[in-house]
Amino acid sequence: MVRLYFNRSGRRPSAQLLDVPIFTVCPACGFVPHEAWRYVGSRYGHVGGFTCGRCGARVTILDGDCRPPVRFVADVPGKPARSFVFEDVYRLNWSDLMRAGALTRTDLIPPGEKGYVEFEAALAAVQGEVARLDLPPVPAPLPEGVSWVPEPLRAWLDALFTLDGPPAG
Ligand SMILES: [Zn+2]
Repeated sequence: MVRLYFNRSGRRPSAQLLDVPIFTVCPACGFVPHEAWRYVGSRYGHVGGFTCGRCGARVTILDGDCRPPVRFVADVPGKPARSFVFEDVYRLNWSDLMRAGALTRTDLIPPGEKGYVEFEAALAAVQGEVARLDLPPVPAPLPEGVSWVPEPLRAWLDALFTLDGPPAG
């Protein structure tokens, strides 16, 4: 399940993840369990927490009151928090979606001022274009500091990279 919201109004059009599997990281020891966490925003910036399966640190997950970045803070003094803008890590920000739409000649972002992007349809469009062009699949390199990405975002990143190469800029 991936829910993605878009907003064309305001100063800059944007896309925002509302319900998405994310990876977690322990800032104390760097452990990344290969198990997705269902991120559905926060209550006043508090997303949740877990106990690290490797070092036992208590890790708190925070965000900017349902806005990126998502931050991981360990209850261990002197360890810096780790933070991620998952829209960027997952290449699901506004410019990525526009780019993927241009490459597939598909309006991935529906008309209207605000609404939802059909992620499954977007993924199918990009995968379909990869198949149509008969491109050999290329696994996407992950951004600095990211070691694992859960499905179906891994499939999205790989399909987009196969079709388009690395993100511009
Ligand atoms: Zn740990």
